[in-house]
Amino acid sequence: MKNIIINLALHDLLYLWASSLVQTYKPCNLHMENGEVRCQSGWGPCCNGCKHLATNGCTVMALNCKVCFCHAACYSLPNYVKDLLNRIQALMQQIDQTPYIRESRGEWLKRLKKKGGDTYAVR
Ligand code: SF4
Ligand code: SF4
Repeated sequence: MKNIIINLALHDLLYLWASSLVQTYKPCNLHMENGEVRCQSGWGPCCNGCKHLATNGCTVMALNCKVCFCHAACYSLPNYVKDLLNRIQALMQQIDQTPYIRESRGEWLKRLKKKGGDTYAVR
């Protein structure tokens, strides 16, 4: 897919779709425990150490992080939600996004532009 506007539109649509599933079903069950953020896994959150993490949470749109979860988080989801997330992952291939690679929207766009030589402005 060459046109960056179409790529962007599909990306943002998939991001909104996945985000709304995550907000509704909360697979990670993020919560405070003894003054620290904890999650469903018992050892996470896996965001710890990520360059995009700030004190108030994630600072970017990272589509992969909305569709790929650890076993504990996946296990907590109803099967139909897992199916929907799998469908989103399949559609992500159309915009050159690979599940399990942490990448912000901006980083993905830069990579696409480098590959395709597209000159549209990136925000
Ligand atoms: S994916 Fe697993 S380890 Fe990462 S924040 Fe969610 S529950 Fe925790
Ligand atoms: S990019 Fe992903 S891993 Fe990094 S802070 Fe955001 S949600 Fe967490």
